[in-house]
Order: sequence, then structure tokens, then C-alpha cells
Amino acid sequence: MQQLCHFIDGHFVPSGEWIDVVEPATGEIYAQVSSGGAPEVEQAVAAADRALKDWAHRPATERAAILSRIADTIEARLEEFAHAESRDQGKPLTLARSLDIPRSVANLRFYAAAALHVATEAHPSPGVLNYTLREPIGVVGCISPWNLPLYLLTWKVAPALAFGNTVVAKPSELTPLTATIFASVCAECGLPPGVLNIIHGYGQQAGAAIVEHPGIRAISFTGSTSTGEFIARTAAPMFKKLSLELGGKNPTIVFADSYLDGAIPQIVRAAFLNQGEICLCGSRIFVERAIFTDFRDLFVNAVKQLIVGDPLDEHTDIGALVSRAHYQKVLRAIEQAVRDGGRILTGGAPARIPGRCEHGWFIEPTVISDLDPTCSANQEEIFGPVVTLIPFESEDEAVMLANGVRYGLAASIWTENLRRAHRVAAQLACGIVWVNCWMLRDLRTSFGGVKQSGIGREGGWEAYRFFTEAKNVCIKL
Ligand code: NAD
Repeated sequence: MQQLCHFIDGHFVPSGEWIDVVEPATGEIYAQVSSGGAPEVEQAVAAADRALKDWAHRPATERAAILSRIADTIEARLEEFAHAESRDQGKPLTLARSLDIPRSVANLRFYAAAALHVATEAHPSPGVLNYTLREPIGVVGCISPWNLPLYLLTWKVAPALAFGNTVVAKPSELTPLTATIFASVCAECGLPPGVLNIIHGYGQQAGAAIVEHPGIRAISFTGSTSTGEFIARTAAPMFKKLSLELGGKNPTIVFADSYLDGAIPQIVRAAFLNQGEICLCGSRIFVERAIFTDFRDLFVNAVKQLIVGDPLDEHTDIGALVSRAHYQKVLRAIEQAVRDGGRILTGGAPARIPGRCEHGWFIEPTVISDLDPTCSANQEEIFGPVVTLIPFESEDEAVMLANGVRYGLAASIWTENLRRAHRVAAQLACGIVWVNCWMLRDLRTSFGGVKQSGIGREGGWEAYRFFTEAKNVCIKL
């Protein structure tokens, strides 16, 4: 059986205990991953610290060249990475091939280029010149979740390295495979030992050890709001820089004047891509009363066309949920919605996939109506293939309902009325708004949420500011 090791100071090293890695589509163990904790993090921080002086002072061109080589190598091995990601996470292979791995390549290329193009501010005035130096922070921690494993790991690691930091990263214990292959690619492409270290293991051991280590000066974290709370509480007294990208309960707002033929396929995608296991998924669909019935029928009909199946099958739209625990959590959320008076319009049950996947963790894409906006299905993140439909009467009510949760990550607005789109976008309490589209990403734009969806922003200049420390130099001329 494949054994996945930590990557410390350029070497793959195991630690005493192993965690089983399970293929969600079959429920079978197919690998084991090392379970790290404070001792491994200590070694990784020491290695990262030793590597820092050289890496931080290399010309940006050299750092960019290495990151570009890593991107090229992943692209050349796209099929291998896509198979690994699909097997580990349960997502359709076609999705890993078209989204996860190409985006990981794009993250590395984007920040390789950024390292060559960033600039700092100067504030000249008569007789005085102020200018800003932006220096690497030092050793930084990057902790990522299981839903988009390599995509989110590289979204953090690429800017951290591009701007001269060294890294101790921790992927999710549920999806450690592509991070391990990534480490070997980094070594092959000439990334010096210690610049990137990967510690596997449970969050409360390996993850917490990263958060608690005084030698790690910043933490970039993507994951659940409850883990984010722990990190904020632990890191604040140590004055670490924090970027926390947390949960979401995102509204999709459909006005009566929207172009439904174009909107419905996109709204279905926003609801169910990656089994609904994307923080940006639109899981609360608000529909203007005048078109509610028409929308509901068209939407439910489109959802019924989605194929739940073996992630390796090219026709599969919806794969397996990441773990048994998560599968059970999603089923419990559906049961609770029914107890709260919800009407299941389609789905609502496990999907049985005969053959290789008969013991996998599949759930039918589920649409629920007739729920109060305050019930748990409309308030708590389910992070699975479950959405609710809610009618609204007016623009004001749509905004009030959309903002009526503790989260504030993303929203999408569907309307042909440009004035309304601007008006509503300005009133939504969230970090990202899409109009007549969803998850259309430009890596230069800021990414992140408000309220309990997190603090800080990633992407473009935001990542440059996060992964560097500003130093003002004032010269009397
Ligand atoms: P999680 O918080 O359980 O785990 C995320 C990572 O943190 C994992 O690597 C885990 O091992 C680690 N971790 C867990 N406990 C820790 C601790 N005490 N100290 C340090 N690290 C710890 O989240 P998850 O279940 O892996 O991911 C799903 C969540 O991530 C959802 O809430 C989703 O919305 C969120 N998410 C947010 C974004 C975003 O950009 N806002 C993107 C993707 C996922």
C-alpha cells in the first residue's frame, strides 16, 4: 500500500503513526499518510528557517523561474495529478482535469509572473522622500482543506514562495495525495531544501502545532469557521499575521427579469459543482415571487438531469462526498430540513451506484422548498449537494434575506437590469459578488469574506501585501 510521508528539508520522512486514506467513491482504504505533530513541525520550522536567508535574498527572477518550472511539470503530468485528486477527494475526474489541476498550474504561473512585476510605493515631498520596502515575513504556515486540495494549497504556497518566504504547509488529512506528489515535483524542479515543507496529519495535532509555533510568523488558513476561531484565538496573543478564508452560506438571487435560459445551467452549476463542496457554492436560491413556480420547475428539471456516478466515468456530474462522516452530516442536515417542514423537490437520499462504487458516499442532488429562512438548512453551511428555494417579493426583501446569515463570503445576482445589479451588489454583506455568472475568477481580484466567512483577502495585490511586511524608509534630502 502507498505510504505518504512528510516532506521536510527536501526529504520524504515518515513519522511513527499512520492515518488510513480512503477513496470516497469506493469506501476502501488505498493509502496511508504520516500523522505528524509538534516534533515534525519543529523540524520543518528549523529547515524553513535555515532556507530563508538564501531564498528571501534570491533575485525574483530565480524564484519565478523555479515556480514556472513547477507549473510546467504539473501541466505535463496533468492526467496523473487529476487521477490522484479525483481518487482522493471523490470529485469527477473531468472536473479535476478541467478545474483543479489547471487552476493549480495557473496559481503558480500567476505568482511567478507577479514576483517580477510587483512594485512598492514612494511618497515624495519637498526635501523628503518616503519609500516602502516590502520584505518577506519569514517562515509562514499554509493550512488548506479537502475540497479543492491542490488548487487551494498552491493558492497559498505560490504567493508565499514568490515573495520570498519559506513555508510549512499542512494539507487536509483526508486528501494528502496531490500535495505529496507536488512536493516531489518541487524537489525535481530545483526548489531548494527547506523552502517548502509539508507536514501531514490531523488538524488538532499537525495543524495546531503550526498555529502555535512561535517561529511561524503568519498563517494563511482556508477551512471551517470553527477551526478559524481556534486559529484566531491561538495566534492573536502571538501577534501573527492571519488570513482566514472560512465557511459560506451564499445566496443566489434571481430576479423576475433575469434571462432564465442562460441562468438556469449556471445556477445549477453554482449549486452542485464538486458535489456542492465549494465554499462559493450558492446554496440558498432566492427567486422573485412572480417567476417562482416557473423557475422551480425548470430548475428541478435541470437538476434531475445531473448524473451521479463513478468519478472516473466521463459522464459523471456529481461524484462522492469526501468522507463517511461528511456524508452522514449532509444526510442529517436533509433529515432536519424535512423535520423543519421542508418539501423535497428532488433528491433527498443516498444515491446507489452499482459495481465498483456500491460502497461509496454518494448523495442525490437535493432541492428543498417551503423552509423558513431562519431554519438550520438556511442558516448553517451544509457543504454538500443540497440547496433551498425561497421566494421573495421585493428587492429590499431579497437583500435582507441574503444578508440574514452569520456568513458573508459570496453572492450571485441574476437580472437583466443593470441599475438593479449595481444597487443590490452594493448592499450585499459579502466579499465577492457575481452578476449573471458564478465563480468566474480573475486571479488579480481580491478574494475573501466578511462576518464569519473570515478576515483578510487573498489574490493579486492582497496576497503580495499579506505575504510581505511593509517598511517605510524616510530620507531627508
Ligand atoms: P477544517 O477546518 O476541518 O480543516 C481545514 C484544515 O485545517 C485541514 O487541513 C485540517 O486538518 C486543519 N485543521 C483542523 N483543525 C485544526 C486546528 N485545530 N488547528 C489547525 N489546523 C486545523 O475544514 P474542512 O472540513 O477541511 O473544509 C471545509 C470548510 O472549508 C468549509 O467550511 C468550507 O466553506 C471552507 N472553505 C472555505 C474556503 C474559502 O475560501 N473561504 C474555501 C474552501 C473551503
